[in-house]
Amino acid sequence: SAKDQGRNAYCLFEPSMNRGAHEELALTQDLRRALANQEFSLHYQPKLRAPAGPLMGVEALLRWHHPEQGMVMPDRFIPLAEKTGLILEIGRWVINEACRQLAQWRAQGMEVPSVSVNLSATQFRSPGLFGKIRDALEANGVPASSLVLEITESTAMHDPDASLAILQRLSELGVGISIDDFGTGYSSLLYLKRLPASELKIDRGFVRDLVAGGEDAAIVSAIIALGRTLNLAVIAEGVETAAQQDLLTELGCTSLQGFHLGRPCPATEFAARLA
Ligand code: C2E
Ligand code: MG
Ligand code: MG
Ligand code: MG
Repeated sequence: SAKDQGRNAYCLFEPSMNRGAHEELALTQDLRRALANQEFSLHYQPKLRAPAGPLMGVEALLRWHHPEQGMVMPDRFIPLAEKTGLILEIGRWVINEACRQLAQWRAQGMEVPSVSVNLSATQFRSPGLFGKIRDALEANGVPASSLVLEITESTAMHDPDASLAILQRLSELGVGISIDDFGTGYSSLLYLKRLPASELKIDRGFVRDLVAGGEDAAIVSAIIALGRTLNLAVIAEGVETAAQQDLLTELGCTSLQGFHLGRPCPATEFAARLA
């Protein structure tokens, strides 16, 4: 009966482990094979000069095409990749693929000023990072100034002295540095002043209710003023409406990114849209 089946199905799970833990374990095992099975791809989202262009660059966002589950989003598997250390290999693939795609677009005559790649905390602190980036740029003939590395504010401020040393080395290479999800961490302004960053990216948490008339507009204005003082570009993420686009432009945001301006999509679709 259905009741028995239900009971049997339930018994498949160890009493000590909940369903979530089982799924996580299974997903982690699949993740170990994902790179070899070529299950990853990058989607690209435009970063536009406010209010509506030109194109300042694109952000590469990782997608996992799981053989049974379909597309798995990074918030579900990046933490697993971090925990297992797989992020280092996956991250290397991402950096190289983003550079390869940028070079291909340029060879096709498309004007894409830069590609941004997200780095997780483990990647950022790994000793091999500098070499991987230099190799990917060289192998694909991409100038360092065309690559932007996005690290979250929390990652940058976790061990500020160590971060400063890593970022200095990277910026000497000539790559851009974007402080992602800005406003959600705990920045020391003294450190922020010294960080060789090129961009602050306002977290979408401040954009969501921006137009509603609460304190978010004042916070966004403060971040923009900070960016001006430190000579950093300020981009807002998560722009979903024309009203947000207008207000962010009025407040002085340099660039905008969000579903309203362009959803992340595969490289071929992005090229078609740009054309
Ligand atoms: P993030 O770097 O802050 O990326 C922005 C996220 O917001 C992306 O989600 C993007 O698809 C989504 N987004 C863009 N516009 C809008 C909008 O208007 N509204 C809303 N609600 N969302 C919008 P995604 O692709 O799921 O990525 C989530 C996070 O996963 C990223 O946050 C980043 O931290 C991480 N991630 C993505 N790709 C990579 C990667 O290659 N390596 C590493 N280490 N992390 C990655
Ligand atoms: Mg990002
Ligand atoms: Mg972000
Ligand atoms: Mg984020």
